[in-house]
Formats: sequence, C-alpha cells, structure tokens
Amino acid sequence: MGKIIVPDASEFPRQADLVIIGGGILGTTTAFHASRAGLETVVLEMRDGLATLATAASEECFRAQFSEPENVAMTKASIEVFENFSEVIGVPGYDISLHQQGYLFYTDAPEGPETLRAQVEHQQSIGLDDVEFLSGDEVRRRFPWASPEVTAATYRARDGWLSTHELTHGFAKGSEALFLLRTKATGIEPGSRGVEGVETNRGHISTRTVVIAAGPFSGQVAGLAGLELPLTILRRQKAIIGQDPAIPQGAPMTISVPSGAFWRPEVGGAAIGWALPEEPGEPLENVPTDWAFPALVLEEVSKLAPFWEEVVGRLTRDGVFLSAGQYTCTPDSKPILGPSPDVEGLFFNLGYSGHGIMAAPEGSRYVVAMITGQMSDEDNPFSYQRFARGEVVVSEEKMVI
Ligand SMILES: Cc1cc2nc3c(=O)[nH]c(=O)nc-3n(C[C@H](O)[C@H](O)[C@H](O)COP(=O)(O)OP(=O)(O)OC[C@H]3O[C@@H](n4cnc5c(N)ncnc54)[C@H](O)[C@@H]3O)c2cc1C
Repeated sequence: MGKIIVPDASEFPRQADLVIIGGGILGTTTAFHASRAGLETVVLEMRDGLATLATAASEECFRAQFSEPENVAMTKASIEVFENFSEVIGVPGYDISLHQQGYLFYTDAPEGPETLRAQVEHQQSIGLDDVEFLSGDEVRRRFPWASPEVTAATYRARDGWLSTHELTHGFAKGSEALFLLRTKATGIEPGSRGVEGVETNRGHISTRTVVIAAGPFSGQVAGLAGLELPLTILRRQKAIIGQDPAIPQGAPMTISVPSGAFWRPEVGGAAIGWALPEEPGEPLENVPTDWAFPALVLEEVSKLAPFWEEVVGRLTRDGVFLSAGQYTCTPDSKPILGPSPDVEGLFFNLGYSGHGIMAAPEGSRYVVAMITGQMSDEDNPFSYQRFARGEVVVSEEKMVI
C-alpha cells in the first residue's frame, strides 16, 4: 500500500528508480502504474496533500465522446478503470462515488439534427459504438426538463462524474509508492548521460528517471531541466449551486453545443461551468474568482433548460460556491506524454487541458509503458515529437469539458 508522509530526515529517500514531480491525479496514477511495474517510485508534492490543485478544482466529469480516435481510445479505457475501480486497485469496496448518468450534448440550432447525426456516425466509426443520436423529441422524452427549442443531441450513458479526491487517494492506496508531502522539486540534474537526480527543499534524490506531472506548474518544472514547453495556462471557474428541488438529480452532464455552457447534478444542487475566454496567465496556487461568472453561466444554461429560471428566482449568494483552477493547454489540446527528446530519462505527463481526470488512468499507463520499454514513442499519439514533426493542428475539441 502506498505511503503518504511529510518526511523527516530519517525517512527521506536518497535514491529511487523513478521520481514523479506532482501529486495530483496524474502524478498519482503514474505512481500506481510504475510501482506495480516494479519500479521503486517516489512522488514529490509541494503542497499539504495529494489532489489539492487543478485536480480539486475540476468538475470531476468524464466522457468518451471525442472525435479523434486517440482521444476515444484513451478515455474509453480510463472509464473502464473507473467502472472497475476497487478491483483495479485491489481494495475491496473502495468507493469513488461513480455517477454514470451520461453526457448530453444538445443544441437548438436548426441544422443540429444533420450535424450531430454526422458526428455520431463518425464517433461510431472510430470505436465509440455506444454513443447515441437523439432527436429533439427523444431528448424531451428522456429528459422532460429540456426546452421545446432543442433540436438534437448526442448522448452516451456510460459517461458521467466521480469524486477526484477518492480517485486520487484510491490510486495512492493501490500503489506501492512513497508520497512525500510538503516536498518541492527545486532542481532537475541533467548529467552528461541524462537525468542523474532531483533536488528538493529537503535534500537530493538520485534517480535516472523523472516524470513531470506538475499540472499548471509543469512548464516551470521543465524549466528546471532547461526546457521550454509549448504550454498555455488558462483560468477556469466552477460554481456549485446549493440544493434546490427544481434541479433534476437524475440528469446527465448537460452541455449546450452552441455556447459550451454546462451543468450537472451535485448533491441536491448542481455544478455549473463555462469555458469563457481568458487571457493566458502564470501558474498559481490560489486562483482568483469573479462573481460575474455564475450569473453569466446561469443565464446561458437557462436557455435550453428553463427550470433554471425558477432556481435563479430564489437563489441567494449564500447558495453559490465559487472556485477556480487552471487548465494546462497545448496547441492541439492534446496532452504531452512520454520521453523528452532533449534530456534522457525525463518524461512528461502533462498538458491535458480540461481532460486530465478522464484520461489519467490510460494516459499514465502509456507513460509508464514508455518508461519500461513496453511501448515505443513512435507508437505514441501524444508524443512530444509531434511538435518537431510539424504535425500539430489546432483541435476543434478544444475547451469543452
Ligand atoms: C475548473 C476546472 C474544471 C475541470 N473539469 C474537468 C473535468 O470535469 N474532467 C476532467 O477530466 N478534467 C477537468 N479539468 C482538468 C483537470 O482538473 C486537470 O487536467 C487535472 O487535474 C490535471 O492533473 P494534474 O495532476 O496534472 O494537476 P494538479 O492536480 O494541479 O497536480 C499537480 C501537482 O503538482 C504539484 N507541484 C507543482 N510543482 C511542484 C514542484 N516543483 N514540486 C513538487 N510538487 C509540485 C502541485 O502542488 C500539484 O498538486 C478541470 C480543470 C479545471 C480548472
């Protein structure tokens, strides 16, 4: 079972097969796979606990409805891990509060039936056989709260949400790794033969292999090895709306295709959000919020789900809980996984924009498979080399959760 400590000098490891920088969902899933592959694994986390930065800020949702085959494959496999979580980690009865209430992308556009039907056919052709096209009437039959304006939707019942805190701690429990809290990586030592060690605020760890999984701080951490990664940091906010009887608790994660605004049930209330335009920023531990945000989202989500007007009519500021985190984005909105071409022994597991929870189990499995030589970077659709090869195209799947 993984051990989570704030190490004193006697517990601080002087060497490891693998050092992972970052104890969010990505560092922890990497540690799970690596330690199970037999690597003596140490995770460095500068904060007081695991999963307290971007992972805690997340909407906690997962979907396999993507339009590129590599994204479908990665999220489908990750969702299978969520579905069988307690067996995967070997802790009977372990509960991640899995809610498979589906993801509904709906629209009021007149051309909605045509475009969404074509999208579903495409997704089915790339391996997502359980995604459904729904007509406007079918949407209202299944979800009577949907507006008469809705013309079409796509839906997948096995999409949903979970507890990211339980998920991260479950992977830590199921691992054999050592997690060091309040331990910050301050240097990566690239020697003439590649990585030789990591410097921390508590001392030096000798290792030949390092994974950067530092969320929004990944660019800064790569800078410790003299690298510059093509990452953009964007603020994203989330609002939790307190309990209200008008919010249908059986609803799916519901996203307006025209705007991207979304909501889903959350313990009697709802979680709402919208990827509004933001200026790129620096990585932050305390991300500021803006009280205009919930008002804008509520106005937008009311358009296709009119019950929201009733909820808004009786909502007070005490019933709204606002928080913010940051996306770590790449130019093509796909993560960077696998080896650095410049520093031998340095690996990346970062840049997932809004998909780091839903893709973590499989993305981290790829990274560990590349570390152990089970997978080649040539077969890796998320290789850093794609930037050098000029294969990067700006993705349409960009920002929606
Ligand atoms: C508002 C919002 C909603 C989102 N919703 C979803 C969603 O519904 N579904 C989904 O899949 N994704 C979602 N995401 C994206 C998801 O949260 C991220 O992709 C994911 O959490 C990234 O995980 P991580 O482990 O890389 O980052 P983090 O959780 O930020 O972990 C990185 C860790 O590295 C540590 N660290 C940094 N530098 C150092 C250092 N030098 N030494 C030691 N430790 C260091 C940090 O303290 C941090 O704990 C959302 C994000 C936001 C902001």
